[in-house]
Amino acid sequence: MCGGNGALGIWRCADRSTLVIQCDECNDIWPDPAKIAAADVIRIELPASKLPGTSVFIYGPGAGWATDEEVGRVGWTKFVKSKGTALGEG
Ligand SMILES: [Zn+2]
Repeated sequence: MCGGNGALGIWRCADRSTLVIQCDECNDIWPDPAKIAAADVIRIELPASKLPGTSVFIYGPGAGWATDEEVGRVGWTKFVKSKGTALGEG
């Protein structure tokens, strides 16, 4: 954990459909954009990391920062506060 210095972005997992919230400074992950308190963070083991309770790999081919379209598809557009920081490098 970087202590909250990083910007939070929306990350597309390797299954190309599951989205999570990820810090751009460290590997903190939150599965629900409505619950991004420190207590809700998921600690993952690199590099072969699956989203807990699923068979979805968080990193790998197909994974990356989510596009506007992908964010809209899951109804998370309202959670994007600033494109520059929230979506990282896009
Ligand atoms: Zn962080």
